[in-house]
Amino acid sequence: MRDKLFIDGTWVAPAKGGSFEVIDPATEQVVHHAPAGTAEDIDAAVKAARQAFDHGPWPRMTGKERATVLRRISEIILARKRELARLEVIDNGKPMPEAVWDMEDAAGCFAFYAGLAEEMDETPEEAIPLGEPRFSSKVVREPIGVAAAIIPWNYPLLMASWKVAPALAAGCTMVLKPSELTPLTALELGAIVAEAGLPAGVLNIVTGLGPEAGQPLSEHSGIDKIAFTGSVPTGAKIMAAAARDIKNVSLELGGKSPFVIFADSDIEKAVEWIMFGIFWNQGQVCSATSRVLVEESLYPALLERLVAEAAKIRIGSGLEEGTLLGPLVSKGQYDKVLAAIERGKSEGAAVAGGGRRPAGLNTGYFLEPTILTDMPEESFVWTEEIFGPVVCVKPFKDEADAIRMANDSRFGLAAAVMSRDKARCERVARAFRAGIVWINCSQPTFTEAPWGGYKQSGIGRELGRWGLSNYLETKQITSFNSEEPWGWYIKSD
Ligand code: NAD
Repeated sequence: MRDKLFIDGTWVAPAKGGSFEVIDPATEQVVHHAPAGTAEDIDAAVKAARQAFDHGPWPRMTGKERATVLRRISEIILARKRELARLEVIDNGKPMPEAVWDMEDAAGCFAFYAGLAEEMDETPEEAIPLGEPRFSSKVVREPIGVAAAIIPWNYPLLMASWKVAPALAAGCTMVLKPSELTPLTALELGAIVAEAGLPAGVLNIVTGLGPEAGQPLSEHSGIDKIAFTGSVPTGAKIMAAAARDIKNVSLELGGKSPFVIFADSDIEKAVEWIMFGIFWNQGQVCSATSRVLVEESLYPALLERLVAEAAKIRIGSGLEEGTLLGPLVSKGQYDKVLAAIERGKSEGAAVAGGGRRPAGLNTGYFLEPTILTDMPEESFVWTEEIFGPVVCVKPFKDEADAIRMANDSRFGLAAAVMSRDKARCERVARAFRAGIVWINCSQPTFTEAPWGGYKQSGIGRELGRWGLSNYLETKQITSFNSEEPWGWYIKSD
């Protein structure tokens, strides 16, 4: 585990010498002291990234040259995937097989953007047809400059990869600020990029607390673009900071995603996808389908099967073989989720399953998979993100009722629908006001497809070619090709 910041290609102690505790959520033990960067370190990191962008080789290389380094990063992550996954489990709590899946996805993300970097070389510059024959115009795409990435704790290395890989592919340089709850794999990424041959200053990694490191980064005038994933309140602060000097911003924020299940659905498949939608990663997933809407006639039978299956989920340390639900990430998050369940009960919700610390697990931030029912539509648990293994289930009357309830949210990240009727699935998918829609499943995520939300769930899209565009500027180059004088001020007689 690393105790220094990665700035300008070297490992440096934080200017103020501070550190913060890294706690294993399964044991509640302090496992490491990570370096606490502050404004001075952020300034050094931004200056290194600025120098690397303005004068260094990275933005001037061909896409093919950049792709070679990105592919090496991907290969090193794959070669080290079990060791990195173990760090992720100690840091975040998730079960080991999920962490291994995340590492493979992170490696895949670097490989995917290596491909797009190469394509940039081969893509002909786009000619723009003009209605004026004396002129010709074309469009070129260029790296946006120095980017800042501020990321959360739920998928530490994967969220870093979603930002670092496209930024590097585009030719940008970057300062990455991971969450203070999960700094371990992000620091390791410094060693990985150095081994892969990334030039100094292209990626700088500063761990630290939100207000002490994140805020100065979002306010720094040397940054051209901020890419943020996290909560709505922090997203609002970052957008306000960015407004001061008109930085380009993309935001991936929270959600309260609905999953609409029609009565013709296969009940076993429905239960499986509900559980995958809310218990994976302990429900700490921005797109988690946390509101399940079930057609009235199926509701009692589905609820019974869901409660029975959820009770069987094996809970324990993420390092234990067979664990399917680990601890929540931190004491703060644990208390927040327990408080939300209590608030739900006080507002009329019934606990159909779970809701407590599992028997026999007295240490660690463990919570049973929890199923709430009968909550009013305006209640806290139905409208606000809980970010834990807590699902709210409600019956609906007909398609129109389901769509109304599903869209009645300030969020619009994801939504899902299940039915044997393909035309109905398609209709409902189009009616959802959400950026990501799943039909007959929930959560599978692909690097090729755009990711992001409507409404308060964010601005912009990550992944796929949309993710690359986040880090590119668009420039028009227009030529006057006529030998004739323009003749506005100076008239030829
Ligand atoms: P958070 O907003 O508390 O923190 C996110 C990051 O912002 C951390 O690195 C933190 O240190 C930093 N930060 C905190 N205050 C800051 C400030 N004033 N200025 C700059 N940076 C600051 O969120 P979290 O608790 O880490 O993550 C949970 C939230 O993130 C949930 O709401 C979840 O929905 C959301 N999330 C969204 C997505 C998505 O793809 N849309 C993915 C993961 C998580």
